[in-house]
Formats: sequence, C-alpha cells, structure tokens
Amino acid sequence: MKAVRGATTVDIDSAKQIKERVKELLESICTQNSIDKEEIICIMFSNTLDIRSYYPAKAARECGFSGNALYSSLEPEIEGSLARCIRVMLFVDKDIEIKHVYLHSAENLRKDLTKKYNIALDGPAGSGKSTVSKLIAKKLNILCLDTGAMYRACGLKCHLSGVSVNDEKAVEAILKDTQITVGYENGVQITYLDGKDVSSDIRKPEISMLASAVAAWPYVRTKMVEAQREIAKNTSCVLDGRDIGSNVLPNAEYKFFLTAKPEIRAKRRAEENAAKGFSQPFDEILADIIRRDEQDINREVAPLVKAKDAVEVDSSYMSIDEVVNFILNKIQEKV
Ligand code: C5P
Repeated sequence: MKAVRGATTVDIDSAKQIKERVKELLESICTQNSIDKEEIICIMFSNTLDIRSYYPAKAARECGFSGNALYSSLEPEIEGSLARCIRVMLFVDKDIEIKHVYLHSAENLRKDLTKKYNIALDGPAGSGKSTVSKLIAKKLNILCLDTGAMYRACGLKCHLSGVSVNDEKAVEAILKDTQITVGYENGVQITYLDGKDVSSDIRKPEISMLASAVAAWPYVRTKMVEAQREIAKNTSCVLDGRDIGSNVLPNAEYKFFLTAKPEIRAKRRAEENAAKGFSQPFDEILADIIRRDEQDINREVAPLVKAKDAVEVDSSYMSIDEVVNFILNKIQEKV
C-alpha cells in the first residue's frame, strides 16, 4: 500500500470552488500517479478553519470518488499557516513511484516538489558526489548534471586533437569550434563531443588529469559555466561539480560540500575503475587524486572551495545511503 499526499487552496470559501478544486486535486493525483479509482482504499482530507462552505470529502464523493472510505477533518488554527487550504492523503493498493501533488498556492508548501530549484553538490574527486547526486536526483525526480563530464569532454577533445592542455592559446583555439552538450536517456546523462557520445571515453583515468588541467583556463570555464547555467535556469536539477555553490549558481536553493579522506577516495576510485574494466595501481590513483585536489584548489579561476552557506558532509565513514538520506533530510528541513 502507498500513500500519496496533495494539497490545494481555494481563492474564496465557496461550495462551488471547493468542489472544483477537490476534483482537480484528486484527478491530478490519479493522473500523475497512474491510479485508477478502484485502486484507492481511502481518502483523508483536512482543511483550514477558514473553509466552511463545503466538506471536501463530500465534494470527492460527488465527483466520482465514492468506492472508497472518505474522511474529512479540521486543522487547528496555526499562525502563518496557508489560508483556505485543503490537504489530502490518498491510500492506494498499488506499488507505485509516488508523486505528491501541490496545486495553486499550496505549491508554497512543497517547494521541493513543485517549484524549480537547484541543488549544488560540490567536492573533490572521489568524494562520492556523482553517485550521491544521481540517487538524490532519482529520489526527487529531477535532473542530475555532472559538470565534471563537460570538463572531461574538453580534455578529451585536446587529447584527440594532439593539443597540449597546458597551452592556453591552443586550448582556446581548439575549443572555440567544439560543441559540448549533454542529453538524457532514461534519466541518465549522455555527454556529447561534437555530436558524438563520449560518455564512456571521458571516464578513462588519463582523461581525469587532462580535464583538471584544462578546467583551469578562464576561456574553458566561461564556456562550460554558461552552458551549465542555461540548463539549471529552466530545470530543477542537482549539479555535481567543484564550483557550483561558489560560482556557477551562488543562489542555488540548496548547497552541499562532500568530502572524504584522500585514501578513502582513492580506494573508491579504484573500485569504480575496476568495475569499468580500467586498471591502475592504487598508489597512482592516490597520487592522481592528491595532484588533482591541488590543481583544483589552487587554480586562480573558480577554485574548488566550499561555499560559505554550503552544508559540509564528510562521507569518509558513511555509506552512500547515509549520505543520501542526510542530504534529503536537510533539504526537507528547509522546505
Ligand atoms: O568530477 P570529475 O572528476 O569528473 O571532474 C573532472 C575535473 O573537471 C576535475 O578534476 C576538475 O578539475 C574539473 N571540474 C571543474 N569544475 C567543475 C567540475 C569539474 O573544474 N564544476
């Protein structure tokens, strides 16, 4: 059994509008969650005291939600509570991915579900950002933008064109006419370099160092940051990177900075590489991580830094689920 939540408001306390809004709310919940009326076990309403003209439960019965138990109650008067609000909890006999529904002014109640918002998740290599951000995005049903993949694509382009990543002018010249874009297939990010899917090529260990070196050039950063802001402007998403909270989206609604001890990050990277079929000695991975940290922390433009208002999470001794739940709880606390 699952429980779906929802809420709506009425502009005026009239029976007509209460009936319309209850119908709209229940039908939206059913459509968005693919629920048939027969699968509903019971519907429970509560409403604020300033709604007196009609019972929401009666409105529900009248618009066809009559084959299930119905219940309405009044909420206490609490200062600051939303005016003329009807809340609902719908229990269904079905195993579904729940989508809660908030309509009209009730959207303000659940900004995380209804309003566009961005989550900045920054941190050094191997801190678990990419796994954590994918899981959070899945849980919240929003996009996940791996910004490191874009810098990796820049590094790969230099590599393929025989351009040294240390030659600023040559890097700029080659990237001027290069297209780096991202797309999504079943929620999974695909990174394209000049229209070609390079999602797996950019993960090769040798590309990591190139990405970090190339990411230090102002031209590269400006180009990538513009693209990232454009994606984040219209879509709710988790952005995983180094400078999201501090530079790309200083006004992101939620900011987190994930860290872990270098040895632990190297161990995780070794396991990840092994799973992908890349082999690299542990000591080399650790040295790469430390060098990459140095490069990312010390570069002049948009270095790796914890934004002042970011919540720091040291994941050294936390499982992925613990980190994900910690972050989701923090987001919920702010809503
Ligand atoms: O996160 P990932 O390891 O894939 O990133 C590769 C490199 O891209 C990093 O070492 C970093 O130098 C660079 N990067 C960056 N800013 C970001 C994301 C990644 O400079 N927002």
